[in-house]
Amino acid sequence: MQHQSSEEFIARFIAQAFPAANLEIEGNGALIVYKITLNEKLLVRLDHIGAVFNFPTRGSGRMSWSGIKEGSPETVAAHILQDLANAGFTVLSPEGKRIQKRPVFIGRYTFCPQCNAHSLVRRIVYGIISKELDEEKFVSGGCGIGFNDPEIRCIGCGWEGIPEDVRFTKKIQG
Ligand SMILES: [Zn+2]
Repeated sequence: MQHQSSEEFIARFIAQAFPAANLEIEGNGALIVYKITLNEKLLVRLDHIGAVFNFPTRGSGRMSWSGIKEGSPETVAAHILQDLANAGFTVLSPEGKRIQKRPVFIGRYTFCPQCNAHSLVRRIVYGIISKELDEEKFVSGGCGIGFNDPEIRCIGCGWEGIPEDVRFTKKIQG
C-alpha cells in the first residue's frame, strides 16, 4: 500500500465529510497540493507545509503542520470540519449527521463589528432585573418587545446585534 501523507489523509477526510465539495489534486511528490473546492471556489488548500483556509474563520486563515504540537491528522481534520460548519457549510460527522455551528462565545475577545473594540460587547438582559448584573458580561436592555430584539450590545459605540454577527469579527490591523 502506498504511503499516505498527513495532508492527504486530512484532505480526503474533509472531502468525504463535505458532500458538496470536490477534492482536486495537483502536482506530485513533495509539491503535491490538495484543494477542497465548492462550485469552483477554493476553500481549503493543503500541502506538505500546512493548510490555507479561504473562508471565514476566527483564526489567521492558515495552519502549519510544524506548529501543531499534538493531535492526530484525524483531530486536525475534525477541527477544520468544525470551522467549515461554523462558516455555514454542510459538513457531516462520521455518523452522517450534519455538524452544527458552535455557539458564539461572547467574552473579552469578542470584537465589535462597528468600532472594533474588544471586551466591550455584552449580552443584553431584558425585563426587570432583581439582582445586580455582572457588568463584565451583561447590560440591561429595558423591557424589550420580545421580537427581533438584539441580543448583544457594544457598550463602547452602542452597536447592537446577535451573536452570529460577531462570530468572525477580529482585530482590524491598522
Ligand atoms: Zn462598538
